[in-house]
Amino acid sequence: MKIIRSINEMRALSTEWRCAQASVGFVPTMGALHEGHLSLVRASKEENQQVVVSIFVNPLQFLPGEDFAGYPRNEEHDLQLLKKAGVDCIFLPTVEEIYPQEPLLKFSCPSLTNVLCGLSRPGHFEGVMMVVSKLLNIVQPQQVYFGQKDYQQCLVVKNLITDLAFNIDFRMLPIVREAHGLALSSRNAYLSLSEKNEAVLLNVALQKAQAMVDAGENAVEKLLTAMRTVLQEGQLLKIDYLEILTADTLQKVELLTKGRYVVAVAAYFGKMRLIDNLLIDVS
Ligand code: AMP
Repeated sequence: MKIIRSINEMRALSTEWRCAQASVGFVPTMGALHEGHLSLVRASKEENQQVVVSIFVNPLQFLPGEDFAGYPRNEEHDLQLLKKAGVDCIFLPTVEEIYPQEPLLKFSCPSLTNVLCGLSRPGHFEGVMMVVSKLLNIVQPQQVYFGQKDYQQCLVVKNLITDLAFNIDFRMLPIVREAHGLALSSRNAYLSLSEKNEAVLLNVALQKAQAMVDAGENAVEKLLTAMRTVLQEGQLLKIDYLEILTADTLQKVELLTKGRYVVAVAAYFGKMRLIDNLLIDVS
């Protein structure tokens, strides 16, 4: 397993692979790896001859006052997991390597970022678009793997790839959860036991919406009210947002007609914010 820290070296390796006609799968991460990340690695290994995982905590996607400095970092542990998973190359650049200057270029994707996490974290997705563009440009994979856990990020990146004509297949993989339903997240490490027990309610609320839709309910306000009731069982959590939107364009609707929707929730536990979502197909 190669560990590469410089852009030039990463480019040279991906060029070598391309010349050898090897397909390259790429999994961008911020480290503190768990089974969610590893599910992306496994999919990438199944579909490609070479797999690159990047670990880079991107300062541009953290707002002032967010947890950039305190974001969990555990390089040793991550390298062990990735070696065991059979990854070919880890790209581990420094902040200075990725941002030799503060970028003058700014990204913007208003229709997909003026809702959900984009509202709570203004500037976050602009930072994501910058780093993903740079990483795709450096690694030059044939396929890139993202998790549905960050559904809005998936939509933004998918459209970035289309709009900038990157010659890359975008793959979104399902959310990996703990046995009792909590979506895995690097930030779960910050939760106290009682917060963790309560965090399960996010998934319980999503399942409630699914059950109601399965039983024929299509009024968005009724679904949201039922979900809110579930979340209000929690003593510690504070709802940030709870929305049901069209899955491709993140538009509000009042009634679910034939099509695909995303049910998205975010909640605070103290300063910590957890997100979860569910895709619902209505036929
Ligand atoms: P992060 O390190 O948080 O930037 O995540 C790197 C990638 O792993 C992103 O595409 C995430 O959506 C994905 N990911 C994080 N948590 C999960 C999860 N529980 N299930 C599936 N994918 C995940």
